[in-house]
Amino acid sequence: MKHSNIPIFLPELACPHQCVFCNQEKISGTLSIPKPEDVSKIIETHLSSLKEKRIVDIAFFGGSFTGISIDLQEKYLKEAFKFIHSGIVSGIRISTRPDYIEQEKLDLLKKYGVTTIELGAQSTNNEVLNKSGRGHNFESIKKAAALILENGFQLGLQMMIGLPYDTFERSLQTANDIAALGAQSTRIYPTVIIKETVLEQLYNKGKYKPLSLEEAVVWTKELVKVFEKNNINILRIGLHPSEELKPGKSLAAGPFHPSFKEMVMSKIWNELIFNALENKNPENASFRINDKQLNFAVGFNGSNKKELEQKGINTRFTADSSLSKYQFDVSYN
Ligand code: SF4
Repeated sequence: MKHSNIPIFLPELACPHQCVFCNQEKISGTLSIPKPEDVSKIIETHLSSLKEKRIVDIAFFGGSFTGISIDLQEKYLKEAFKFIHSGIVSGIRISTRPDYIEQEKLDLLKKYGVTTIELGAQSTNNEVLNKSGRGHNFESIKKAAALILENGFQLGLQMMIGLPYDTFERSLQTANDIAALGAQSTRIYPTVIIKETVLEQLYNKGKYKPLSLEEAVVWTKELVKVFEKNNINILRIGLHPSEELKPGKSLAAGPFHPSFKEMVMSKIWNELIFNALENKNPENASFRINDKQLNFAVGFNGSNKKELEQKGINTRFTADSSLSKYQFDVSYN
């Protein structure tokens, strides 16, 4: 059965941290925050819009859930728990920071049916965390991850690439650390520069250079390989194309693209295809590709097909649902 999340966005209010990439004023000033009494309505509206039977989770996202007062957490959880109790919803997911995980908080989450905790780890390199103003170090990520798993929750660890002082090697290390810490899921977000942030000031002074879109795609391609090798579910690649990221709004610079995931997957297929064709120089190449991967194999905007044809190779791509994800067949006639 397919899976669906009912997202309830709780943007962080008066967060005591100063992550250099975050515009707190924008977060706390412009977004309306659902109150606990609004939760049932949001869930019911979402449930009524589902066209088929699905496994449904309620997801408190967008802020640090365990950073809000215990009283308020309990009010939100009680509302969501009603739907778990009646069997309509199977679990609750929350996102939070590594330094907001303590046994007492986990006990409350457990009591109300929370199944998955996603931590914004962002990096496991202490210099990157420090220069990004995260206010926690790798040690706190390790401790929080261990405590979450010991308490029987599913663990998600999100990461960012291209933060200040990040390098390709450091981001690869972060992905490997996320795997070693036992995460079952992850999200990969390239760092972009939002207006009126410390990062924008650093950028304007020439002290921070964002990744180019091409670099972000190439780095992410390697991270995807690490996560797939370790059977970690990649829930998201790239930032959600929200209103604020539309041209002329809050984005100052950086590797944002609404089709970032497609670009990354297309790069993965570019590598597979050109490795297979190495030293072959065929005139024609017909590829059979898993149906769900076909568009990625052809490439974002047909980029892989175009590259092959620029090399003088006539190509044909067809879908074959009997093939597994990265399995493909190529014939040269
Ligand atoms: S990104 Fe950092 S500064 Fe912004 S709300 Fe989250 S923890 Fe606070």
